[in-house]
Amino acid sequence: MYAEIILPLPLRGTFTYAVPAGSEADMQTGSRVLVQFGKKKYYTGIVDRMHSDDPGYEVKPIMALLDPRPITRYPQLRLWKWISEYYLAPLGEVFKAAVPSGLKPESDTFVSLNEDFGTPEGVKLTERQALVVMLLEERKRMRVSEIESELKVKDATGIISRLLDAGIVNIDEKIVEKYHARKETYIELNALRGDHETLHGFFDMTRRSRQQEKTLIAYLDLSGWMSPNGKLRDVTRQELIKTVGITPGILKALVDKGVMRQEKRTINRFNGRQEGHSAPSPLSAAQQTALGEIRSGFRDKQTVMLHGVTGSGKTEIYSHLIASALHDGNQVLYLVPEISLTTQLTDRLRTVLGGRLLVYHSKFSDSERVDIWKRLLSGNEPLVVLGARSSVFLPFAHLGLVIVDEEHESSFKQFDPAPRYNARDTAMMLATMHGAKVLLGSATPSVETYYKALNGKYGLVTLSERYEGSVLPDVEIVDMRDQRKKKLNTGILSSRLVSEIRKSLENNRQAIIFQNRRGFAPVVVCRQCGWIPKCENCDVSLVYHKFSNLLKCHYCGFSHNLPSICPACGQNSIDIFGYGTERIAEEVHQVFPDSRVSRMDLDTTRNKDSHQEIIEEFARHDTDILVGTQMVTKGLDFGDVRVAAVVNADTLLSFPDFRSNERAFNMLEQVSGRAGRRKEKGTVIIQTTDPSNPVLEFVRRHSYREYYDREITEREKYRYPPFTKVINIYLRNKDSAAADRAAARYSVLLRSIFGNRVLGPVKPFVSRVALWYIQSFMLKIEANASMKKVKELLEMIYSQAAAMPEMKSTQVYYDVDPA
Ligand code: ADP
Ligand code: ZN
Ligand code: ZN
Repeated sequence: MYAEIILPLPLRGTFTYAVPAGSEADMQTGSRVLVQFGKKKYYTGIVDRMHSDDPGYEVKPIMALLDPRPITRYPQLRLWKWISEYYLAPLGEVFKAAVPSGLKPESDTFVSLNEDFGTPEGVKLTERQALVVMLLEERKRMRVSEIESELKVKDATGIISRLLDAGIVNIDEKIVEKYHARKETYIELNALRGDHETLHGFFDMTRRSRQQEKTLIAYLDLSGWMSPNGKLRDVTRQELIKTVGITPGILKALVDKGVMRQEKRTINRFNGRQEGHSAPSPLSAAQQTALGEIRSGFRDKQTVMLHGVTGSGKTEIYSHLIASALHDGNQVLYLVPEISLTTQLTDRLRTVLGGRLLVYHSKFSDSERVDIWKRLLSGNEPLVVLGARSSVFLPFAHLGLVIVDEEHESSFKQFDPAPRYNARDTAMMLATMHGAKVLLGSATPSVETYYKALNGKYGLVTLSERYEGSVLPDVEIVDMRDQRKKKLNTGILSSRLVSEIRKSLENNRQAIIFQNRRGFAPVVVCRQCGWIPKCENCDVSLVYHKFSNLLKCHYCGFSHNLPSICPACGQNSIDIFGYGTERIAEEVHQVFPDSRVSRMDLDTTRNKDSHQEIIEEFARHDTDILVGTQMVTKGLDFGDVRVAAVVNADTLLSFPDFRSNERAFNMLEQVSGRAGRRKEKGTVIIQTTDPSNPVLEFVRRHSYREYYDREITEREKYRYPPFTKVINIYLRNKDSAAADRAAARYSVLLRSIFGNRVLGPVKPFVSRVALWYIQSFMLKIEANASMKKVKELLEMIYSQAAAMPEMKSTQVYYDVDPA
């Protein structure tokens, strides 16, 4: 028997290994195995399929089957393959991204003697096997590589796997180190339930210690031992000690006397059994209508788009749909674009869903992620997973509903590292595999989605009023050139913004200020000689961070101190310009010294709970003004926010990309959505030097439809999605000239097949990142063309090119459906 194994490496396809005799029965698709790959490396792989086609060459044996049952489910593997094919990413990279690293021990495999086995007398060992046993008796635990060097063999896999089969050694996988199971100690009575005679004996034994007697009684009470029916409840040591108020010594005495016994058990952190204690809120009439329309849309369409203005209560509608999906025994995936959103939603949903709500995202520790994974794997119970991007990879059993909130968000698209997948589209594919329904929600649907909805491919439900008659905020566009001319601004804050914030603070209200740039100042320059500090690895200038007093590269993390004198001309003449969130927070604080300002961006949310703390503080109104990057714009719901502001819309409006308008409109409309979410009307201030930009007018009128109509016309005219499919092709090389040559060569090959559908090569906006020189092409393919064929052609071009000298050391990767 052979098995095709998926390895967590950036390699195409699967690899063939021999299945050790005897384990055929236990190994199956989805099983996790340990295999050797390359000379010295050991990896955890996943069995893709088992077969008996001799590959015709010597294959290595699988070293160990790591679990009695598969750790993935069949639809998952299908999804991995779909991602690999659709996004042109190696299957191994999909596996790497999909499975938490606690489930993927790599290398450093340790071998030790199996203690249960005892001294291996009577078993015939080869000389080498005997040597390994001897070494292990001496050293207890050895790396495979150490054994190899002791035996002076290149490859000890065969020897070790035979010892393993014979039960003489154990392999201890790195999982022991990476995944920390949580253990809990339980107390049990040493008497069967109903055995009152023994119990009387126990009371006699504890008669002389009041504390011990109390403990015994408390146990009987907590566990329900005395009641004739119902299940015996598990009692933890912790709980017992706390309830009686005893010292651990008392418990130990009872254990020593044989009255009780302790047992350590591994528990899953997420096996909470508590039920939700409240029903979803009753819906308003408009929401009720929308819910009805969604339900009837699901009758003949798999996917429905819910276009609801900000504050219309989409979340409440989701809650109702979730409740019915759970009621039907189904699982639900609720995708959100931003971790900060899970924070607020968790609180809102927990009351309804209790322990059936699981939250999954990258801020969780790996062990916690493994526990969620295992919880999903262990049963088929109805559950809801609320999560960011990577939750599409979880082992759902029977998904009934997928909700993608803020479906327009470009952060659903992963860019680095591969696989460059869009979690929204991947979730839709996952839903198809499970036969589940999909609800896409947004106040500003993506152009592609809305186009499909208007054309009947998706159902379309519109909710155009905010909940409980609160109204959309007034949007005011402030011309910063004019402000500067008239000297009305205080630093970066216009007089209009200052007065609106002041009014809001005076009325004990809050403000949110958005700037899409972190750090203190993005521009550092010598006013004498023009020197600008650049990153050593990337083609970007460094951003000044005041708190750490460092210049940092936002692409690769490179940093160094801010020089006090210019390293080029030696003058004391370094200036800083521009505004990042750090500087805005400081300036706001200077203008409003009595206000409490907080900041939310990548720099302030590196710790696991910092998102939550910042959001909770603001929600409790312990802070008055929240300054932040896009993290503050998405879906957050705070009742007291009267002012939302965009410090500088220019960078949003002028980004050189076909999605520029779309991104700008979405972002600005989402920012406005944070203001005036309760009865009071809010105000939105957008500062710009380009006030006549039509996008701003659409935002001012909150007119999604006008924006969409203009945008779709442009897309059609210039042949962009949804009228074409776009694939960006990237080439990179650490040598600049080699990158140029490779791009020239690739250009010829691409054009010979795709003709004028090819644009480029161009150097991207940042043309060197982390030492790589990058060149890119854009491929625009007719929307009705076979993408499968296109991808085959791309593969063909790649293999043709790979042989050419120009392509040496050049890496090629793709971004399908760039966001
Ligand atoms: P959206 O996601 O559409 O922007 P939310 O779901 O955040 O809107 O709702 C806005 C606010 O209105 C929230 O504070 C929410 O709790 C409240 N709300 C909406 N619908 C209801 C309802 N049916 N009952 C009670 N509160 C509601
Ligand atoms: Zn850099
Ligand atoms: Zn200088």
